[in-house]
Amino acid sequence: MDQPNVVLINCDDLGYGDLGCYGSKLNATPALDRMAAEGLRFDDFYMGSPVCSPSRGALLTGCYPPRIGFGDFDGLPVLFPGQGMGLPPSEITMGRLLSDAGYRTLMVGKWHCGDQPAFLPTNHGFDHYFGLPYSNDLGRQSGTPTAPDGEQPGYPPLPLLLDDEVLEQQPDQASLTARYVAEAVRFIRGERHRPFFLYLAHLYVHLPIYVQERFLRGASNGTYGAAVEAIDWTTEVLLHELATLGLDDTTLVVFTSDNGSLCRTGGSNSPLRGAKGTTWEGGMRVPCIARWPGRIGSGRMTAELATAMDLFPTFAALAGAELPGDRTIDGRDIGPLLFDDDAPSPHEAIFYYRMNDLEAVRVGRWKLHVAKGGTECRHLYDLHADRGESADVVHRHPDVVARLEAVADGARRSLGDARLGITGSDVRPVGRVADPSPLTTYDPSYPYYAAEYDLPDRG
Ligand code: MG
Repeated sequence: MDQPNVVLINCDDLGYGDLGCYGSKLNATPALDRMAAEGLRFDDFYMGSPVCSPSRGALLTGCYPPRIGFGDFDGLPVLFPGQGMGLPPSEITMGRLLSDAGYRTLMVGKWHCGDQPAFLPTNHGFDHYFGLPYSNDLGRQSGTPTAPDGEQPGYPPLPLLLDDEVLEQQPDQASLTARYVAEAVRFIRGERHRPFFLYLAHLYVHLPIYVQERFLRGASNGTYGAAVEAIDWTTEVLLHELATLGLDDTTLVVFTSDNGSLCRTGGSNSPLRGAKGTTWEGGMRVPCIARWPGRIGSGRMTAELATAMDLFPTFAALAGAELPGDRTIDGRDIGPLLFDDDAPSPHEAIFYYRMNDLEAVRVGRWKLHVAKGGTECRHLYDLHADRGESADVVHRHPDVVARLEAVADGARRSLGDARLGITGSDVRPVGRVADPSPLTTYDPSYPYYAAEYDLPDRG
């Protein structure tokens, strides 16, 4: 089989309940609803972490965050500007994997796997990059806190990168999504005659949300809903482009989100419990839609367990690329789930890490919580009967608890558990550089579009 094109769309903090095809009555998402109707919608799809940097590192490498040193960043949950840590070049991203397999590769949007030159997308197999190297609330913004290093008040100006150079500082955030999709379309047109991999990582719906007037008009869910509709519009643009170029039958498009919603300002993880940053279902279970006309049957849904880490080996299989044999990869090829109605999940268990603490484990229908925020606990939920984790049945199923405890112990031995002082036997170090520096510094003479963003929202 010829190598298919791959388009991976990753949103920022989009919740499980934010799309029409996942039950939202607040946001209009006709393009994504159509994408689901034409393809496969995952009911039980998980990110590797409930926050940005570890989730993205896991997605890109096919590994649980602690496996690649991405559990925490010198005590911080995500990477900050100029921190000097990131995804080391020794890690193999899906960009590198597909590039080595002959793909042309572009990343557009939020990276958040390290902002020092060694860690940028262009050092991880992407031919080109256009986007923000970290979160859109890490620039100069109303109410900005002191940077973690304490050296300068607030964060440095938000950099917009073209490849590995700062193209603009403090760009107009409202127009970025339209610029992102234009760049994506330009790439698809230019590479339409050979296999390509596009990784589009939206800045929406991470706070603060700046959105163009065109989406605000008529949005029924305020600024948040307008941003969701902007995501939907970009999906329509990309799908239209693929159809126009005759690439529908040779392109796999996957849509997902890096973690659950904060559940403030209009976002929803309904019907799941919890929010971004937690190991309740709402933190890590996210929308995922896969579309490939002719290969993936239309209007399908699967409740089999799958994770973002599975995309790495799945894309490898589709591209005919060998998986690296010198390291553990946690993801599994979910091609069978994509193409076959009756395929079972390749996963015996899913592990919910918050930083380097194992907080929960899922096996089949059962989810056992073993810690929350550094404190030991025991709660058992039957996710088939109780997706909202509302009825703790830990005392009714001691046999299930014992079985899941044993599975959790296996994960701890391999991946570690900081809360219990366990170092994993099979973990690789985070990348570090000496003498890191932020990509920008504030210069009063620079013609900023906004020297300081006026919205104070962050998160
Ligand atoms: Mg996020």
